[in-house]
Amino acid sequence: MPAQNARSLCEYIDASPTPFHAIDSSIAALDACGASRLDEREAWSLEPGKPYYVARDGASLVAFRLGRAAPSESGFSIAGAHVDAPGLRARMEKSVAARGFSRVAVEAYGGPIHSTWLDRPLSLAGRVALRAPGGTVERRLVNFARPVAVIPNLAIHFNREMNKGVEYAMNVSLLPIVAAAGSQPSATSPAAPAPSWLARAVAAELGMEPDSILSAELTFVDAAPSITMGADSEMLSAPRIDNLEGCHAVLSAFASAGAGSHGQVAALFDNEEVGSATARGADSSFLRDVLARVVSLTDAPGPEALHRALARSFSASVDGAQGWHPSYADKFDEDFAPVLNGGPAVKANANVRYATDAVGEAVFRSLCESEGVPCQRFRMRADLAPGTTIGPISSALLGVRTVDVGVPMLAMHSARETAGSYDHDHMIRALSAFYAAGPSVVG
Ligand code: ZN
Repeated sequence: MPAQNARSLCEYIDASPTPFHAIDSSIAALDACGASRLDEREAWSLEPGKPYYVARDGASLVAFRLGRAAPSESGFSIAGAHVDAPGLRARMEKSVAARGFSRVAVEAYGGPIHSTWLDRPLSLAGRVALRAPGGTVERRLVNFARPVAVIPNLAIHFNREMNKGVEYAMNVSLLPIVAAAGSQPSATSPAAPAPSWLARAVAAELGMEPDSILSAELTFVDAAPSITMGADSEMLSAPRIDNLEGCHAVLSAFASAGAGSHGQVAALFDNEEVGSATARGADSSFLRDVLARVVSLTDAPGPEALHRALARSFSASVDGAQGWHPSYADKFDEDFAPVLNGGPAVKANANVRYATDAVGEAVFRSLCESEGVPCQRFRMRADLAPGTTIGPISSALLGVRTVDVGVPMLAMHSARETAGSYDHDHMIRALSAFYAAGPSVVG
């Protein structure tokens, strides 16, 4: 049965309700493998063979291990994934109260499946910006790590057509209930507005006054823990498998990789679910900035060394694949429909919604073959448009050949997704082979 890796993944997901927490969890894993932290604002001093990492705004991270040879002679093996997930972002200041109920206004982050957030105990987590001495702003993470809210459905007696499909309006039907005080008066009064329920709850959680909170990025998340299930624990049921599975696989392979002649890079980005065009997303300068600094500190002077290093590099964009669903077989091209526990899928698309080209696919497939890891293919049914990943964006920014790969999963973008427990082992082994082989394997 799948053991240690699946258990570690469940712990990683449960400790990472938001991108900020995912970066914290990732930093803990990198610290445990002896990596040294770097600050973008400070000067760096680097040693060959040692692992380092740098975080940007607490929500994205690049880790790297220098090779024995200069980057311009050996290039980088770069594996990337995204730490964010679709969900319900709370509107901090807005309370909605009626007849003893308090609700929190929300807006969608990315493209969640709305109905999956209903009738499920929800927790709350995120990052808070606080008033600090000297007029500065202090950032603090908060994680309630317990059920605090629920979004109840309407009783079926009010809508007998409910099982034919319901549209849930974000501003009406998807407001999480956070208190039910019966006949108690509402906490807010129009004449003298009190702090919102959310401001009071977050302040209490952090042990401070509500007026210390200047702003926040808070998200409602599934409160139930991640589990393995099935006769042989072969299925993984968890929130945010897209794409914390990818992040954990990249980190696990990076942490256990030995130093080679080439550089090894693990990049975790926020904001993929909203297009990546942010200061901490894949469509930012972050990864290129880090690689340029590494090359400038360890290679020949002048701009040529970076160009040579990138031209020798190879990248894997690791993100979930749509697994074949037995109830909706007609949605798939059956020849390109990966199944759970059948191994990582290489994703490709004629219009480059995935970055994979023939050479990239061939290299990844042969790495899997050499490790005895099963490998599948995903192509969207030809009359449907697939999603996308960080792959096309980062490969365009860096000019580095990239292959898009991911473990198959069901119910992608649901509050809770299902994947194959064995596939996590498969992906870690494939990425370990990717890091060990180095970019010269592309030829
Ligand atoms: Zn994804």
